[in-house]
Amino acid sequence: GKYVYSFGNGKAEGNTGMRAILGGKGTGLAEMSALGLPVPPGFTITTEVCTLFSKQGGNYPPGLETDVAKSLTMVEKLTGARFGNAHRPLLVSVRSGARASMPGMMDTVLNLGLNDHTVRGLATQSGDPRFAYDSYRRFIQMFGDVVMGVDHHHFEDILDKHKKVCGLSLDTELTAQDWQDIICEYKLKIHEQTGRDFPQDPRMQLWDAIAAVFRSWTNARAVTYRRLHNIPNNWGTAVNVQAMVFGNMGDDSATGVAFTRDPATGENALYGEYLVNAQGEDVVAGIRTPQQLTVAGRLAHRSKLPAMEEVMPEVFQELNAVRHNLEKHYGDMQDIEFTVQRGKLYMLQTRVGKRTASAALKIACDMVDEGVINEDQAIMRVDPGSLNQLLHPTLDPKAERQIIARGLPASPGAASGHIVFSADEAERLSHAGEKAILCRAETSPEDIHGMHAAVGIVTTRGGMTSHAAVVARGMGRPCVAGASEISIDYKASTLSVRGLVLKEGDLVTLDGGTGEVMSGFVPTIEPELSEDFSRLMGWADARRKLGVLVNADTPGDCRKALEFGAEGIGLCRTEHMFFEAGRIIAVREMILANSEEGRRKALAKVLPMQRHDFAEIFRIMHGLPVTIRLLDPPLHEFLPHGEAEMNEVADAAGVSVELVRERVIKVREVNPMLGHRGCRLGITYPEIYEMQTRAIIEAAAIVAKETGVNVEVEIMIPFVAMESELRIVKEHVDSVAKDVLMDEGKNVHYVVGTMIELPRAALNAGKIARQAHFFSFGTNDLTQTTFGLSRDDAGSFLPTYENRGIVQGDPFVHLDVEGVGELMRIAVERGRKTRPDLKLCLCGEHGGDSASVKFCHELGLDCVSCSPYRVPIARLSAAQAAL
Ligand code: ADP
Ligand code: MG
Ligand code: MG
Repeated sequence: GKYVYSFGNGKAEGNTGMRAILGGKGTGLAEMSALGLPVPPGFTITTEVCTLFSKQGGNYPPGLETDVAKSLTMVEKLTGARFGNAHRPLLVSVRSGARASMPGMMDTVLNLGLNDHTVRGLATQSGDPRFAYDSYRRFIQMFGDVVMGVDHHHFEDILDKHKKVCGLSLDTELTAQDWQDIICEYKLKIHEQTGRDFPQDPRMQLWDAIAAVFRSWTNARAVTYRRLHNIPNNWGTAVNVQAMVFGNMGDDSATGVAFTRDPATGENALYGEYLVNAQGEDVVAGIRTPQQLTVAGRLAHRSKLPAMEEVMPEVFQELNAVRHNLEKHYGDMQDIEFTVQRGKLYMLQTRVGKRTASAALKIACDMVDEGVINEDQAIMRVDPGSLNQLLHPTLDPKAERQIIARGLPASPGAASGHIVFSADEAERLSHAGEKAILCRAETSPEDIHGMHAAVGIVTTRGGMTSHAAVVARGMGRPCVAGASEISIDYKASTLSVRGLVLKEGDLVTLDGGTGEVMSGFVPTIEPELSEDFSRLMGWADARRKLGVLVNADTPGDCRKALEFGAEGIGLCRTEHMFFEAGRIIAVREMILANSEEGRRKALAKVLPMQRHDFAEIFRIMHGLPVTIRLLDPPLHEFLPHGEAEMNEVADAAGVSVELVRERVIKVREVNPMLGHRGCRLGITYPEIYEMQTRAIIEAAAIVAKETGVNVEVEIMIPFVAMESELRIVKEHVDSVAKDVLMDEGKNVHYVVGTMIELPRAALNAGKIARQAHFFSFGTNDLTQTTFGLSRDDAGSFLPTYENRGIVQGDPFVHLDVEGVGELMRIAVERGRKTRPDLKLCLCGEHGGDSASVKFCHELGLDCVSCSPYRVPIARLSAAQAAL
């Protein structure tokens, strides 16, 4: 095969389509060269060679050396310089470049080809010995580090010591003689550290550097990075060998980086920095303060140094022309590297630029207006997950912050408030009109009311799928999870972190997007949904096939969801309403009653509350479909804790505490997740579902009468495994509904359907569909039951599974297509066979995950339902899936 691809002089053998073998950098250089942009000539050794090299224990495929020699000769011809020649030496860079960008993971060597002889030639030829020796010491330093494994701090120490002795502070103040002295010390250090001499033979330098870059593909850093970013190990890296150009040739030389538009705002202007008389990564390294490219940039950064636009206006104009050229060619914003050698511009890299969500929206819309891309392309340009940044309040970037601890960025957004250590205290504070930050070792379902009342949540244990993280994301509460440096003393009501002790009521701020916890108050800014946002979402809505509904239990969630474009409620979890203050006692009374009569007495107290809640939701949703799930969770979640709560329940029920205690013990389960829950409850205690059905239908009738709008209700039965379960519950629901509807409004239309969240239900979907008008895949439980994996206990081993590549990502975040997806496919097929108009939805956490939404589209579902803040993500993902 062909292993080496040349570029230069307005031509290139490679192109963008060859990214897999040439890597990102290699295709960028090839494209720019073919476009006629000023690119120093060079060649790319393909990723296939990398793979062969590691397979064959460090040996190259036959013919590679000849091909490299040929390409090198071509570079010599184009530059008029010769590799290893003492008078006009050709110098090259050896650069890594994989298919996917892996910033900082692999290495680059600059100025290769210098030795004790060629450096003199470079000095004479350039007329600038200082420049020549500066380049040589850079080369020794990089080669020593990257190829010979001498840690860079050794070289930095030598340089710092020399500067101190000479009383100099800037690298640019060092003379040729200074650099020569330093070079001697560098060489000694390399010998001392490795027992080898710094190699003087340029060809040996070249092959050593190429091998080092190939080897860097398998260094520990790179391997870990790939695991975390799902980059396959067998992709390999390419190696780019390219003629050097020099930004360190004096004050008319420079090196810089730029974006073709502002990556923060999306503004259509060149945005970037450069350093005069510098090379390579000096700009990024922060050795000197870089200068801005544009006058506008200089003003915005309050920089005292002149902009390139002012000091090198011609080069600047040329760079600006390159910007337009590249954007037109790629149809996207680019991130570029360039060097100016004695007033002449050279391009060294181009790639698609990373940007904030708001910049992504603006750039997509602007480019449609500019005629660079069409609406379909614009939709594909925005990463749905990034929209999260736009929907939550963020910390004011100008504000000062004092970080006291870091955890996982579990749920985005920022909030300040008073520390509280219990859910009840959070609720008390919020009723008093104050903001609470709930700090817990971990959270559990009975903390829900406090999590809802709090403006933010911090836990010291648990991962991205811990209860706190999942619930917080659902509620749109900022959350930092697993901030393990913090320890909480519930007894003393204090938390401590590295000697700092904070007590209940103290102010803290958290940023759930970065995982930072700060002491004191840091001001936030509210998001404002831009014109660009609505435009792009409009285009998306016009293209998607999937409906997007919301998982919402409260009026607040419903309003937010409508604002974000939800088309109805796909999951209203009635149990969340049970935790509200004042209700939980009646609910506990109901659960602990030991007779139907006792339960009915308690349920009679709950009925008006539920009816009121449902009516409120129907009003807000104004005729949009509302799916209400009857009571699902294991009863233990509602049980009282401690004497005080037991007393409360005993009082309310008019029974003795002893009786309550006895019942608590009886009701407790060994494995509640697989216990007395869902339709099992509805079958054993039919009066519960009877009350809920009554509350739903009555509320619908009230609102229909009041507003004249038809109310669309879908009653959803949870945790069904068998057709017979659903048949029994459905008959019951129908008879209750019939009773209610006889007395009241005619404008109520309801249907009964089921969750599919057990493998048995998926397999028996054909039979279950006889009873169900709709299916909604409850993929949280379906994932748990398919894997036999408890979501709340997965934290202790799932990270290991992810790190070792046993699972590709957390199956509670990204739907497991191979297993859970297969069950869904079976259920869709068998369900639709029985009932062709069966409505199919997904309502797990996955409804807000891009890849999972894409799968739902491919499966032909009718809709997905997700938490309010993820509605826009689902809308955009659905559109991308449809394109
Ligand atoms: P990275 O992938 O880490 O950015 P690069 O291969 O792009 O590494 O190189 C690092 C730095 O060296 C960049 O600033 C780049 O512009 C500069 N550089 C690379 N090759 C050359 C060259 N042939 N001439 C001048 N500068 C170069
Ligand atoms: Mg680098
Ligand atoms: Mg680079």
